[in-house]
Amino acid sequence: MSTSTPLRASLLLSLFLSSCSSSEPESDPAPPKHVVLIVVDTLRADHLSSYGYELPTSPHLDQLTKDGVRFERAFSQSSWTAPSMVSLMTGCYLGEERLSLPQELPVIAELFKDAGYATGAFIHNPIINSDNGFQRGFDEFNCPKVSKHNNPTKGYPAVEPAAAWIAEHASESTFTYVHYSDPHSPYGPQSEERQHWMKDPPVLSDELEDHLRAYEANPPEKLGHLENSIEQIRVSIAGYNDDVVQSDLRISQIMDCLKEHKLYEDSVIIVTSDHGEGLWTREGSWNGSHRRQQRIMGKPISLYNLMKKGHGIHLHSEQIHVPLILKAPELQHAVVESAVEGVDIFPTLLELCDLPRPASIQGRSLLDAVNDDTSWKESRPFAFSTTRFSSTVITQDGWHLILPNQLGECQESMVPELYHIPSDPLERKNLAEEQPALMEQLTSYISVRLEMGLSSDKGLELTYTPTNQDALLALGYIDDGIVEAAISALSDRTVESMLEYYLGSACVLRLEIARELAKRELNKEQLEQVQAFLAEESSQVIYDVLRTIR
Ligand SMILES: [Zn+2]
Repeated sequence: MSTSTPLRASLLLSLFLSSCSSSEPESDPAPPKHVVLIVVDTLRADHLSSYGYELPTSPHLDQLTKDGVRFERAFSQSSWTAPSMVSLMTGCYLGEERLSLPQELPVIAELFKDAGYATGAFIHNPIINSDNGFQRGFDEFNCPKVSKHNNPTKGYPAVEPAAAWIAEHASESTFTYVHYSDPHSPYGPQSEERQHWMKDPPVLSDELEDHLRAYEANPPEKLGHLENSIEQIRVSIAGYNDDVVQSDLRISQIMDCLKEHKLYEDSVIIVTSDHGEGLWTREGSWNGSHRRQQRIMGKPISLYNLMKKGHGIHLHSEQIHVPLILKAPELQHAVVESAVEGVDIFPTLLELCDLPRPASIQGRSLLDAVNDDTSWKESRPFAFSTTRFSSTVITQDGWHLILPNQLGECQESMVPELYHIPSDPLERKNLAEEQPALMEQLTSYISVRLEMGLSSDKGLELTYTPTNQDALLALGYIDDGIVEAAISALSDRTVESMLEYYLGSACVLRLEIARELAKRELNKEQLEQVQAFLAEESSQVIYDVLRTIR
């Protein structure tokens, strides 16, 4: 553990020492009255000007950064909203992907409410809803409804509702959680006058364009027109950047409100994101949906569709490296280089506000890192993140292991990936096979976190978006014993029954069936059936096994 003195305590000590000559020691400064937690959904750190992006996407955040601490290397605990926010709100790691807050654990808003703060949530992402328990602890809870006719991540109200609420409660202590979603796809502001870069998109970075052209030079199957893809990617990234500007503007409305009511100086403000975004940084797996698209549409798939655009499955840096900016009354401007995590936000807010820390919290106060970066690095050797497909660790010296689980290997054709970020920031050169000892060490780090983390919430009655239901379906099959039992019984099955079993089975089970079929003698009719599966198979790993069956 860190031996550093918490900032507040060291500050008090220096106040005490400086007042030794006078007869009365200074009294403890009152804790900050206002806390504002701002999460901008889907915000890559490297697309903010305060994090070195070449376009001025975040002028207001840049200003806030000058008043506070910028954490250079902050990582979200997952690469999609629900699990990442579960972790952030509980201060606990994830042992499995989960969507709802565990009933038995205290969450941030509850502690502030219990301490007498008025609590308000203003959320523009429908998965952070009350079905998932996110309303717990909030006096005021606003979350958009999903319908066919509106996109809840866009169409934000003209008057900033969180600012209005803060103004209304200016004389009380407040905890405000704001969750903006402008950068979430579809990219680009709805209103044309806000589409600044979209109208005249800047060229792609040399590195990305070179990468796209190199892939095109040696594709696994025929691809569509490359120049069209490059143009589409250019416009989409420009739209994403326009969305970042929108979020930055909304943040400025909150800052203006705090300043107007003379609350800014006495406020704790944290700005972060729940995850990053792919933005065509790397190619996805060439899977059956691409082949089907080629067959059904009669035209080749394009690089625009083949490259990873969104988030939620993979854990490369672009999907988990998020901004983290902390402004608090006692903090001077600084840049912290240590790797820190979403779980650290909860204990930080508690320490800054002198609130007791529940035993359930696994994160650490970021003030420890502000006080003593070196000691933080020694006592927290890595950051961790997970999805239902894979888990990852990033060490303090920049090694990044992404380790797939069974589902990731099967459904997404994932393999272990090891990158050295300082020498390879875009994670292009996989060193997994060259570094066996390091792989072993980092794999053990992953096991430690998975063991201590929250378990999944599968089986709970969750009833809303298709995304939620799809995720639950995906969560359901691995751990319930059905797949394991079925796999162990495969060798006793006839070819006929395996063929019957194939369609409708989960990915991991289809893989085992394909492997078993490859060992058997098949007649002509059965081989035709395998050919039919081949055309539909969405997993590259399974596809490759099926192809060997003749
Ligand atoms: Zn999100």
